[in-house]
Amino acid sequence: MKFGKKPASKINRIRTWALSLIFIAMFVMYLGVVLFYFTKSQLLFSLFLLIGTLAFILSFIVYFWIGMLSTRAITVQCPNCNQYTKMLGRADICARCNEPLTLDPSLAGKAFDEDYNNKRKSKKLEQPRETK
Ligand SMILES: [Zn+2]
Repeated sequence: MKFGKKPASKINRIRTWALSLIFIAMFVMYLGVVLFYFTKSQLLFSLFLLIGTLAFILSFIVYFWIGMLSTRAITVQCPNCNQYTKMLGRADICARCNEPLTLDPSLAGKAFDEDYNNKRKSKKLEQPRETK
């Protein structure tokens, strides 16, 4: 609900994060070059370059994390658009049409709520079952 955005599937949301990190990294490095041009401060330039590099590394870690999550994600057929989409956890949102999806029959028909996944975190042993 942050920034007034529409709900998106978890994998898509993390992907957006990773992408914005790359842009932040490029912007910080660009800023470092501009500042160096005006101030000729080697220290400032090194600092911005370091922050930019760290943001790049972080984005790569996030992309790697997406890859890890994708292997754990379950492919389900969306009841709304009939397309196959990957979902994470007990409740997620269709990547194509933003339809709320759930693997838990007790949650079916209910509005999507991020809290369902927090409950799942506390009950890690409970494996989500695929519904056909
Ligand atoms: Zn869908």
